[in-house]
Amino acid sequence: MVSETAVGVEVDVAANLARVRAEVDAACVAAGRDPGEVRLLPVSKTHPPAVLEAAYAAGARLFGENKVQEAAEKADHFADHPDVRWAMIGHLQSNKTRQVAAFADELHALDSLKVARGLHRALHELDRTLDVFVQVNSSAEPQKSGLAPEDVEALLVELPALPTLRVRGLMTLALNSDDEGAVAACFQRTAALRDSLPPELLGRELSMGMSGDFALAIAHGATTVRVGQAIFGARETR
Ligand SMILES: *Cc1c(COP(=O)(O)O)cnc(C)c1O
Repeated sequence: MVSETAVGVEVDVAANLARVRAEVDAACVAAGRDPGEVRLLPVSKTHPPAVLEAAYAAGARLFGENKVQEAAEKADHFADHPDVRWAMIGHLQSNKTRQVAAFADELHALDSLKVARGLHRALHELDRTLDVFVQVNSSAEPQKSGLAPEDVEALLVELPALPTLRVRGLMTLALNSDDEGAVAACFQRTAALRDSLPPELLGRELSMGMSGDFALAIAHGATTVRVGQAIFGARETR
């Protein structure tokens, strides 16, 4: 079945999902890993609800979004599907924490104590929890969000006081480059940072890898890959 995406292109979401899942599994096998260890997070940002419905029909139960308002509207659209989970993957401003706490199941871009405290306050009132990944700027590009690797522990030591947040691991966006070695170095740095931090402060998961680099991320230990274009087709640039 084909669906019309954000840019009006017809895309076979079910076929793409199956192909990407097979590629994820193959990358796991190539890396000597169990495919059951790696979650595929379909990134549906910018695409209309009908496209997400096609993915749901093909078995997707988790969607990644980066704009709070858009995600909240989609969560509303799927309100009668309690098995659907929402992952916010983009930088979050502290004035949006209340809204995110109401519907999100995961945040992959935690990068400040202010946001963590705002989320905890709202989650506590709502009697909800949120799985969080602390975002690391592994490429040291100044325009990228995320904490510098050396600043991660200072945030982690504050999080046990905010028990609605379940700290599952680290998230990173690698350098956007054709230089495979430079991309791999970002994933390696993130995995090494995870290894250096106490397990009682940080889960062992790694959210890393996108359409262009998920196989490499899996080779370096990714446990969640966030894949948009390879499943849903091109997005409008904005
Ligand atoms: C959009 C986005 C993705 C998915 O990127 P694709 O190239 O479409 O696979 C992954 N992670 C983050 C943080 C994103 O914003």
